[in-house]
Amino acid sequence: MNLARFPRIRLGHLPTPLEPMENLSRHLAGEMTAPGGGPNLWVKRDDCTGLSTGGNKTRKLEYLMADAMAQGADTVITQGATQSNHARQTAAAAAKLNLACHILLEDRTGYTDPAYTQSANVMMDKLHGATVSRRPGGADMAAEMETLAGTLRAEGRRPYVIPGGGSNPTGALGYVGCALELVAQAAEMGLRIDHVVHATGSAGTQAGLVAGLVGLNSAIPVLGIGVRAPREKQEANVLALATRTADHLGLPAGTVRAEHVVANCDYVGQGYGIPTQGMVDAVKLVAEKEGLLLDPVYSGKGMAGLIDLVRRGHFKAGENVVFIHTGGAVGLFGYPDAFDLPADAAA
Ligand SMILES: *Cc1c(COP(=O)(O)O)cnc(C)c1O
Repeated sequence: MNLARFPRIRLGHLPTPLEPMENLSRHLAGEMTAPGGGPNLWVKRDDCTGLSTGGNKTRKLEYLMADAMAQGADTVITQGATQSNHARQTAAAAAKLNLACHILLEDRTGYTDPAYTQSANVMMDKLHGATVSRRPGGADMAAEMETLAGTLRAEGRRPYVIPGGGSNPTGALGYVGCALELVAQAAEMGLRIDHVVHATGSAGTQAGLVAGLVGLNSAIPVLGIGVRAPREKQEANVLALATRTADHLGLPAGTVRAEHVVANCDYVGQGYGIPTQGMVDAVKLVAEKEGLLLDPVYSGKGMAGLIDLVRRGHFKAGENVVFIHTGGAVGLFGYPDAFDLPADAAA
């Protein structure tokens, strides 16, 4: 596997730290009745990748933006949900590279609270100078981007279209890179990684991790915790993209197989971007035990899944489980009422 042959523009603060979550591990082990307790939980800090407060889109954008520049683009177009972290990070990358940026935001939740519709990620999109326009929930966002690209081309611009979440074989290379980084880091620390767990949405993160870890023959299983689609659909999306990513990398056909792709979509709740009690509890617990901020849409639901699976005995005592923190804490400000926080103390 030779990642170095793909054009890349350095945007991130890499490598990201790999740190133990000792308090959370101890807290969950303390609840367990089985002798030996629970697994050792670790966190890969991809919330610290830099680029407008960081997150998992930075790694993808290093390859996507290099491709845009190679094609002579002067403008990028992308799309996402209203509180898209991908949109925010794309706007920041475009600003840094002197490209114009158009963002189409899909109203997937119907929320009308101005904190949700205008603050948090939306505020940052605009701070980075992006042009933001809205589309109703259920719109064909890929088609909307092509229509806009056509309009801009007719005006003499050179637009480059980035799919939602930056999830195509070019973007997924960023998470092939993360797989290589993680395996090298663990080797250096003398750490045996038994499981990798993370939130999965548009599939590029899991596809890149799977292609990278399978390509390295690492035998480390990846579990994606879904935030939107049902399990069959999520696994099919990840498998298709992991296969295309492996092809793009030049790995032999058949390297990535269906058994390498596992998603658990039991923690979505009512839908994408809609808070669940498990998410609220996970965000609070990790904030209190580890001083770490998760997000309401992705990493909070991913962590809710991880915590529940630990409690159900899914992992063996002493196993090392790495949670990839994909970022997104900016989105907390879009959900000010979701957390039922205590009133100020009297004095
Ligand atoms: C986009 C995103 C994800 C999901 O990554 P995909 O590659 O879209 O599956 C997870 N966490 C956060 C914070 C994100 O912004």
